[in-house]
Amino acid sequence: MGGRQRITVGGGGVIGASVAYHLARAGARVTLLERLPQAGGGATRWSYGWVGTGAGSPSKDPTAFALQVRALEDFRRLDGELGGLPKAARGAIVGGTRNMRPRR
Ligand SMILES: Cc1cc2nc3c(=O)[nH]c(=O)nc-3n(C[C@H](O)[C@H](O)[C@H](O)COP(=O)(O)OP(=O)(O)OC[C@H]3O[C@@H](n4cnc5c(N)ncnc54)[C@H](O)[C@@H]3O)c2cc1C
Repeated sequence: MGGRQRITVGGGGVIGASVAYHLARAGARVTLLERLPQAGGGATRWSYGWVGTGAGSPSKDPTAFALQVRALEDFRRLDGELGGLPKAARGAIVGGTRNMRPRR
């Protein structure tokens, strides 16, 4: 079978858009189907867009923390590739966890 693979992705939220993006980068011809007039109009529309540790601490779940750091790197790369994402980078201090008790 010659030519590029044709793949249809259903749903133009952040997940469908990401799947379509990565498939296209891998060389597929992708059609993204969205039932709303505009992509990103489902749950994605209401997202605060936060990439963060939330209530968890890095030491409690290092794998999740590494994934979040990787996501920030991906956003930086996408920012350059897609020509300026509407985003703001901010820091946060999460306090009050058991891991943060002072040592005696
Ligand atoms: C108030 C709020 C705040 C949030 N804040 C955050 C946050 O800060 N950080 C975070 O990571 N997450 C956050 N989330 C969660 C995040 O928004 C969702 O997890 C994410 O947007 C889900 O993306 P999705 O692509 O799976 O779904 P959706 O964005 O809902 O996309 C699914 C799409 O599929 C389409 N569709 C459905 N059926 C069909 C069909 N038969 N044919 C064609 N199209 C179809 C829909 O119209 C929709 O556009 C928040 C959610 C809410 C509600």
